[in-house]
Amino acid sequence: MLLSYNPNDSEAGLKLLEDLTTDANQIQGQVLKEILMQNARTDYLSSFLDGHVDKELFKKKVPVVNYEDVKPYIERIANGERSDIISSQPITELLTRYTKFSPVICSWPSLKHIFLNLVHVRLSHSSGTSGGQPKMMPSTAEDLDRKTFFYNLLVPVMNKYVDGLDQGKGMYLLFIKPEISTPSGLKARPVLTSYYKSDNFRNRPYNRYNVYTSPDETILCSDSKQSMYCQLLCGLVQRDEVRRVGAVFASAFLRAIKFLEDYWKELCSNIRTGQISDWITDPGCRSSVSSILRKPDPDLANSIEKECGGESWEGIIKRIWPRTKYIEVIVTGSMAQYIPTLEFYSGGLPLISTMYASSECFFGINFKPLSKPSDVSYTLLPNMAYFEFLPVEKSHGETTQEVQCNGNSGSRSVKETVDLVDVKLGQYYELIVTTFTGLYRYRVGDILMVTGFYNNAPQFRFVQRQNVVLSIDTDKTSEEDLLKAVTEAKKLLEPLGFLLTEYTSYPDTSSLPGRYVLFWELKAKGNNIIINELKGLNGEIMEECCSRVEESLDYVYRRCRAKDKSIGALEIRVVRHGTFDALMDYCLSQGSSVNQYKTPRCIKSDDALKILDSKVTGRFFSKKVPFWEPYKMEGYATK
Ligand code: AMP
Repeated sequence: MLLSYNPNDSEAGLKLLEDLTTDANQIQGQVLKEILMQNARTDYLSSFLDGHVDKELFKKKVPVVNYEDVKPYIERIANGERSDIISSQPITELLTRYTKFSPVICSWPSLKHIFLNLVHVRLSHSSGTSGGQPKMMPSTAEDLDRKTFFYNLLVPVMNKYVDGLDQGKGMYLLFIKPEISTPSGLKARPVLTSYYKSDNFRNRPYNRYNVYTSPDETILCSDSKQSMYCQLLCGLVQRDEVRRVGAVFASAFLRAIKFLEDYWKELCSNIRTGQISDWITDPGCRSSVSSILRKPDPDLANSIEKECGGESWEGIIKRIWPRTKYIEVIVTGSMAQYIPTLEFYSGGLPLISTMYASSECFFGINFKPLSKPSDVSYTLLPNMAYFEFLPVEKSHGETTQEVQCNGNSGSRSVKETVDLVDVKLGQYYELIVTTFTGLYRYRVGDILMVTGFYNNAPQFRFVQRQNVVLSIDTDKTSEEDLLKAVTEAKKLLEPLGFLLTEYTSYPDTSSLPGRYVLFWELKAKGNNIIINELKGLNGEIMEECCSRVEESLDYVYRRCRAKDKSIGALEIRVVRHGTFDALMDYCLSQGSSVNQYKTPRCIKSDDALKILDSKVTGRFFSKKVPFWEPYKMEGYATK
């Protein structure tokens, strides 16, 4: 089921998409059959199926699992055991996921009330981080080809809706992250780092004709600052040729804009003199950028300076790259919070989310790339994996779900998964995948809603990542992570006689970089003194609380904050006594049930935010950057 087609032939690509979506059911059947035939003798599958490859038996006997269930197998492979404990094809690398994705500040009325309460999902295990260690998803050589096939199919879809893309260049700002080496010598790295470092990426269609402004060497530079500087420099030098700009996620693109705000003078000076700054020391970056920045160009420098030096940066993308037709960044899921900021900078350019993918598997394509962000749906490609869907109930603003328990420990009521073509319009589901790389009935952790069908293939709106309350960049903070961090921080107040009675949070992305904001309601211990003002509350201690929260958050948060600088200083807003009662009244007025009311640990509604903000008596910011160092795992080498 590894398909291929000529990426230069848009018509063939579109025809293939028609066929895949028309024959979705049959293809899913073939995919499962192939996966089972190949892997029935692996330790994992044979323990449930005893060598059988029957679909019904598979669904009856093989349990729906979380990462914790497959982790022992993956760790065994990382430690040198043969791949065939889970996969007949050799596992060639492990794709790390340090994070979980994504809640949303959701401004779309249809989904708004779902987010008023925290989504409550009953799980067989918590879907949080895995003891602070990265999750590692198996990958094979063939998997790279499957991803390449997927990427190539994005091209005809874009060409169908936007003319003239072949007459210019794409400025895609792409970055790699550090990798580690497992004790058995397998590389463990994020999925995109793996892809960008592969030959498949280097040989991507048209790359040798320089249709991208960023030379591969600048993308592959491990120093993210040099990489960003050089990619922007190349994008500026070739500004007249640029027809599309983008990054993977909205947050990364906005980070690039912020970088441009900080460095435009230096970038312009390089363009003026034709000389690249001395601090760019990476040899690959220097030589590849030099071949683009060939001569002094004072006119270009002046005209960019004029745009950047103006009073406002509103519409700056369109002004600097006047021929660009769209911005390609994912703005669904948690990235929806960046839409207003992107709109400010974009000058009315469409924001395009092309694909939905993860470390486990690449899932689906947006067949209508020009649709509004709130209308974006992804069509899962039936040849990528075998997909199942666990229905998620939605009642009174909460989603709940019951798990099929065959083979799994614990007593849960049984709910059957449904196949790809059997999902129902308007229904919510949790996505479960069986991949070609050794994951069987694996819970991805995403909730999707069916919005329609393309031929026989369902289309899904990404609703949310389970159990994530805060996310600014690639950080994903769960309710549990937040509770842990707040619990650590409030210890600083207790000796002073203050109690934290309630808290909540929201990701403030109104300025760049965005930051976590916590609302705290405090009271004095014992004598019922209520803190309506800041009397007795020491500002330094509160700043210390902010820092303590940051220090207690996970690796990715601290990396974004300390290294990438993509998250700003955490803020605590102390609110008046009774604020959380007012919040409850508001949530009840919006349909939350009194019996089931729980304080939302992250605020999703503008109105709720206004209520909290109107009762703030003091604001405090973290004054320190939390400690961070590159990830180390015992027995694993850091590169
Ligand atoms: P990772 O494995 O770290 O790359 O994260 C994959 C996760 O990112 C998915 O399971 C989703 O939760 C989220 N994600 C990926 N693509 C999208 C998208 N287009 N819209 C919303 N969320 C997405």
